[in-house]
Amino acid sequence: MSSAVLSAAPELQNYVNGEWRRSSATEFVDVTNPATMEVLARTPISTSADVDAAVKAAADAFPAWRRTPPGERVQYLFKLKTLLEEHIDELATITTRENGKTFGEAKAEMRRGIENVEVACGIPMMMQGHVLEDVTPGVDEMQIRQPLGVVAAIVPFNFPAMISFWFLPYAIACGNTFVLKPSERVPLTMHRAMELLEKTGLPKGVVNIVNGGKDVVNALCDHPEVRAISFVGSTPVAKHVYTRAAASGKRMQCQGGAKNHVIVLPDADMDLAKQIISDSAFGCAGQRCLAVSVAVTIGEAQKTFRDAITQAASAIRVGNGMDSGVQMGPVISGQSKQRIEGMISAGVKEGAKALLDGRNTKIGGYESGSFLTPTVLDGLPLDSQLAHTEIFGPVLSLIHANSIDEGIEFLRRSPYGNQASLFTTNGAAARKFRYEAPAGNIGINIGVAAPMAYFPFSGWKESFFGILHGQGRDAVEFYTESKIVVERWSRQETRKF
Ligand code: NAD
Repeated sequence: MSSAVLSAAPELQNYVNGEWRRSSATEFVDVTNPATMEVLARTPISTSADVDAAVKAAADAFPAWRRTPPGERVQYLFKLKTLLEEHIDELATITTRENGKTFGEAKAEMRRGIENVEVACGIPMMMQGHVLEDVTPGVDEMQIRQPLGVVAAIVPFNFPAMISFWFLPYAIACGNTFVLKPSERVPLTMHRAMELLEKTGLPKGVVNIVNGGKDVVNALCDHPEVRAISFVGSTPVAKHVYTRAAASGKRMQCQGGAKNHVIVLPDADMDLAKQIISDSAFGCAGQRCLAVSVAVTIGEAQKTFRDAITQAASAIRVGNGMDSGVQMGPVISGQSKQRIEGMISAGVKEGAKALLDGRNTKIGGYESGSFLTPTVLDGLPLDSQLAHTEIFGPVLSLIHANSIDEGIEFLRRSPYGNQASLFTTNGAAARKFRYEAPAGNIGINIGVAAPMAYFPFSGWKESFFGILHGQGRDAVEFYTESKIVVERWSRQETRKF
C-alpha cells in the first residue's frame, strides 16, 4: 500500500557512502507481514536525487577499491560469511515476517545466499586472465580482466536475501562498486544484512542501498555512471529495464518470469515424484521462479500421478511461517491472493476441474492473512490462456499427453524457458529430454533445478534477456571488462643491464 500519510511504523533509511541516510521521498510503501497484516516498516519511494547521491558515492569509492588487491577485497567477504552464519536465525526470521515463507525456507534461502559469498571468495583465481608468449617472436599477448566501475542490482520480493547475493559478492570481489535496489515490499532482510556488511569495515561507498520503486529503477537505467545492471523480476519489467538501460549503452542481465513444466513418465517412481513435485509446486507458496506449475503426464501416469499428487498436496499444513510444523506460508499480499484466486476461477471456466481448491482459505488465528491452500487443476485445456500464463502462487495444473515428444512439443510452445523437469527411471528418455527440452535449467528427477552458486542460473526465452547469466563464471565475465594487451620490448633495452 502506498501513501503520503505517515503511519507509526519506522521509516527505512538508505545506505549511502557508508552511512544510513533519510531519503528525500514524500511517498512510502508499507512493509506488511502477510500472515498477520502487521505493518513492520515503511519503505521510502526514493527519488532520482537519492539515486544520484548513491551512484556518486559508488563512483568516488571506485578508484581506491579497484586498486585494492583481490586477495584483500575478499577478506571482507570472508568476514561477511561468518557474520551471516552467526545471524542466520535472525535474518531468516526477518525474511519470514516480511515475505511469509516458512522459517525453514527462509533459512535455506539464506544458505544459498551465503554459498554465493563463498564462491566469490575465489575471485583471485576466477578473475585471472591468460597469456601467450611469442605470438610473433618477442611479442607476448595477454587477456586481463578489469572491473567495470559502478554496477547496480534490482531485485524482486520472493527471495529478499538470496537474489541480492546472486550479484553483490561477485560485483565487489571483482573490484566494482555497487548500488542495490531491494524490492519495496521486502527491504528489511537486506537492511539487516547491510548492517552486518558494515561491521566488516568495508570502505564507504563500495556498497550502497537505495530503497524505492520504479522511479529508482528508471533513474538507475538512465544514469550515465552506472555501467551494468542485474535485474530479476517479472518479464514485462525485465523487458522494460533491458531496453531502457540499453539506450544508455549499459551491460545488462535481466531475469524474467516463468511457467515451469514437469513431464511425468509412467515408469517414474511415483512416491518420489509426488513428494518432490509437491514440494516444487507448493514450497514458498509457489512463489519461486523455478516452481513447477504444469505437470504433463504421459500414458498411465495420468491416473497414478493425479491420485498421488492430490494426496501429497492435501497433506500440506498451511499457516504462519513462524509456527512450528507449518509447511506453507501465505502469498505476499491480499492483492496477490485475489489475483491468484481469479486465475484459478479462470482455469475452471476454461474447462479444468479443481481436484483441490485453495480459494477462500482462512487460517484460524490469522483470519486477515493472505493464505491459499494448495490447488490442483486437472485437465486444463492445452490451448487455454492459463496454460501459458505465470500464476506465481500455489497452483499446479495437470495436462495429459500421449508421448514424451508431444510433451516436449508443449514445452516448446511456452513463451518461458526457466526450468523443465522429467521424472523417469529410463536413462534414454532422460538423455532425450536433456537434449531437446527448450529451457535453461533442466531437472531429471529434480523438482527445483536451482543451479549451485558455482554454475550460472541459465534461464531462456522470455525468462532471460542478455547473454551472461548470474552466478558462477558468467558472473565474473559480466562484472569485468576484457582487455587484450599485445606487448613488445626492444632487445636493445636488455643489453643495457
Ligand atoms: P516485479 O517485476 O514486480 O518487481 C521486480 C523489481 O522491479 C522490484 O524491485 C520492483 O520495485 C521493480 N519494478 C516493478 N514494477 C516496475 C516498473 N513498472 N518499472 C520499473 N521497475 C519496476 O517482480 P516481483 O513481483 O517482485 O517478483 C516476482 C516476479 O519475479 C515473478 O514474475 C518471478 O517469476 C520473477 N522472478 C524471476 C526469477 C528468475 O531467476 N528468472 C527469480 C525470482 C523471481
